[in-house]
Amino acid sequence: MTDSALAELARLWPPEAATLRTLFSRQRLQRGRSLQAQIIEIQRSPTGANARVRGAAGESFELALQGVLDRDGQPHYSALCSCRSRRFCEHAAAVLLSLQAEADAPRREQALQLWVAAMQRRAPRSELQRLPPLEAADAARLMDLLQQPPVEARWHPAAQRQSRPRPSKPCRPSSSRA
Ligand SMILES: [Zn+2]
Repeated sequence: MTDSALAELARLWPPEAATLRTLFSRQRLQRGRSLQAQIIEIQRSPTGANARVRGAAGESFELALQGVLDRDGQPHYSALCSCRSRRFCEHAAAVLLSLQAEADAPRREQALQLWVAAMQRRAPRSELQRLPPLEAADAARLMDLLQQPPVEARWHPAAQRQSRPRPSKPCRPSSSRA
């Protein structure tokens, strides 16, 4: 397979977070997130997946998910489930969210390592602002990593919080009080 064909596939599958928000309602995505622990198995293919997800009553639902590029190179997605809602249901959301998180893991890890390196050599704020943003869970991991030796105690977030001065009341120039 050529590099450009591989790049096309990487763009197609799995669908990105922004694409998932167009395929599912916000409620379905939330429901899917809570169902991720109920995924029994995922069989991956380069442009899709078959999966089984456990339902609330212990039944298991069978899913077929697929991505295709149309003639204009635009990605289209199909999802078919054995549950009552059939198409882009919460089970499909659960599986696609898992696949998306999996595909995103290397990028997140790289961003985290950039932050660790920059913080350890006390990079200036202007440099930190140019680093890729961290997701909340990775920001917590960053704090954990920085608390390990040989990082000094003053990097401890709790210590920083305690030493922060209390906000004082704003002063007004005496001339403003008539
Ligand atoms: Zn379903």
